[in-house]
Amino acid sequence: MSETVLEAKHMKKVYNYNTPNAFEALHDINFQVFEGDFVAIMGPSGSGKSTFINNISTIDLPTSGHVYINGREVRSMSSNEIGRFRYQNLGFIFQDFNLLDTHTMFENIAMPLSLAHVDKDEIHKRVDDLAKQMDILHLLKKFPNECSGGQRQRAAICRALINNPRIIVADEPTGNLDSTNSSELMKILQRLNSEDGVTIVMVTHDPLITSYSSRLIYISDGNIETVLEKGDMTQDEYFQKIVEINSAESREILAK
Ligand code: ADP
Repeated sequence: MSETVLEAKHMKKVYNYNTPNAFEALHDINFQVFEGDFVAIMGPSGSGKSTFINNISTIDLPTSGHVYINGREVRSMSSNEIGRFRYQNLGFIFQDFNLLDTHTMFENIAMPLSLAHVDKDEIHKRVDDLAKQMDILHLLKKFPNECSGGQRQRAAICRALINNPRIIVADEPTGNLDSTNSSELMKILQRLNSEDGVTIVMVTHDPLITSYSSRLIYISDGNIETVLEKGDMTQDEYFQKIVEINSAESREILAK
């Protein structure tokens, strides 16, 4: 049995807590991610996917309940500890890449290491190694706005991987990519997962992107509605089931 790397127990999120505008976006979430898992989070717009991923990855803190990462309770840590912990354990990939246009591709990728005061030679070695693997070595002196969307997303992946995180958290990582770049990104994530054992938790609205995962968590109205394991299914069979779950939910929304 693999180790649990991420766990939520009775996780609840209320926005604008204790105000007349209080809104409970997550109700009572119980959820575990095991080492080496590749989990996709789906659900209609506004169902709580981003809230969910933010609250299990230290970006935000739940209103009540517990979140554990590698066995450590996030709420019991100071903000400094959370920062260090994030740097040591987590890599983030976002839809809009979050690269700084005023910095070169090299500086963007190196950012987490520079912030951690890693030795300059070591930074160069690690950035060059990763950039080579992602085929953007020739772009390191360029600025993000001189590169294509696919190249920028690959730089964002390099930045997410630069501290060798054991867990990657991705929110709509293919949202701004065309289909060729999307499937290329998914192959990279799948390789990291299957060959290097990196755990991945990813939000997406695209059944084809989800078909690269090993487990689907479907969220509806702030609750986990359905869990689907890929198990022995082929990617194509898994894809068909994912489409069914999404269209059943769409029919329910239409009938309301
Ligand atoms: P999804 O990612 O599935 O589209 P979100 O997690 O972004 O959903 O949002 C879930 C619900 O919480 C939505 O109704 C949204 O309007 C609400 N929400 C999200 N962020 C905030 C916030 N900062 N303040 C108040 N309500 C929020």
